Amino acid sequence: MGNSTIFSQLEIPNTLAAGPGPGKTDERVLARFANAGIADHMHGAVLRGMVECKFMLRDLFGTSNTHTFGVAGTGWSGLDCMFSAVMPGDTVVAFSNGTFSGIDALTLRMKASTREELALNSLNPKAASVTVIEIPHGQSVTGEIVEMALSEHKPKWAFMAHWETGSGRINDIKGFSDACIKYDSMGLVDAVSSLGVEDFRVDDYKGVVGWASCPQKGVLCLPLTYAPVSFTDQYIENLKASGTYTYCHHPIMEARHWGIVDGQDVEKGGYHRTHSGYAVAAFHEALRITLLHGLTQRANDYIFHEQALREAVSAMGCEVTSNMTSLIVLNLPEALAGREMELVQACRTENFGIWPTLSEPVQIRIGILNQLSQSAITDIINRFVIAMNKMDAGVDPVEINIGLENYYKQSIAAE
Ligand SMILES: *Cc1c(COP(=O)(O)O)cnc(C)c1O
Repeated sequence: MGNSTIFSQLEIPNTLAAGPGPGKTDERVLARFANAGIADHMHGAVLRGMVECKFMLRDLFGTSNTHTFGVAGTGWSGLDCMFSAVMPGDTVVAFSNGTFSGIDALTLRMKASTREELALNSLNPKAASVTVIEIPHGQSVTGEIVEMALSEHKPKWAFMAHWETGSGRINDIKGFSDACIKYDSMGLVDAVSSLGVEDFRVDDYKGVVGWASCPQKGVLCLPLTYAPVSFTDQYIENLKASGTYTYCHHPIMEARHWGIVDGQDVEKGGYHRTHSGYAVAAFHEALRITLLHGLTQRANDYIFHEQALREAVSAMGCEVTSNMTSLIVLNLPEALAGREMELVQACRTENFGIWPTLSEPVQIRIGILNQLSQSAITDIINRFVIAMNKMDAGVDPVEINIGLENYYKQSIAAE
């Protein structure tokens, strides 16, 4: 049948998602998604769920910002919503220390470009009003770097990624916020990788007016559900005054569906676009699970298990260059240098989903989102040992496992 385009049903296997994200989805989240009744986006239960999510999100972000809600889509959807207040000709300083902050900086160059600048090179515009400070891969953005750049440029907007997932680096959020206050810049932060993993409170960083995260990393919801965002009143006032060229990602309009109207909580949201009761149910459950775990406990668990992974790969001769707690970024031992892609590919064909870095230099990233147990970490490490030894790394699996067991025994004894 030459004209048939019907394929057999799509089967997607179970894999071990051990990358920087998406994390290993909690089965309870998937169950809420699959077991939701068939209901439209304006059904009372869906609207109530959205309002409850809004309140849980305020807890998770540690904020009293009224404009705290979820943007339908992925992390980039939330970021696009956050960047919507940046208008052509606005002055911006953006700090870039890896793949994601690099794309954030590109977004900012697109938003702040004049029509002429955009037309000149629409896919990679050079906006005269945007300064991008490049920090080498593997290094963090420090308070001093931010202070220096903001004192020189005094921009309307400043941007930084809180945790740069591309290079696995934590950037100085306090230094960033303090400099924003000092030089009267409005801070925008990509918190895609940090929300739900680090114990921090948005309201402690008054220089930051906009925060954006994603569904599928620290919050552990299904990808393509809701990207959490939070905006201060200052951000919203500024946006109201300038306007923005989007309906769909307009922070004030988008907030209405979550029951935020004229800066106030109202009992029920009103139509903005068609939301999914299934997505709301999943998001609601993911937030419940995160808050039940408790952010402090969760953050400590990440620190504890990242250390186990870090020590084990170090014992294999790898060099860890990251300082995030949800993943490690590493260089292979000298003898295997240059074979990173080959190793990652080999792991992926075994449904062991680790990642290379997406920008130079090529390194390996192994993540532990929602794998906060001795058995999960042991599984990851043993799969990695097998893959390394297929490339003749000569790692002794017994020695690695003894080291790991000792780590868990001693750490538990010390508690
Ligand atoms: C993952 C990630 C993104 C992109 O999120 P998507 O959900 O893939 O759109 C942006 N910024 C950072 C820091 C990330 O880790």
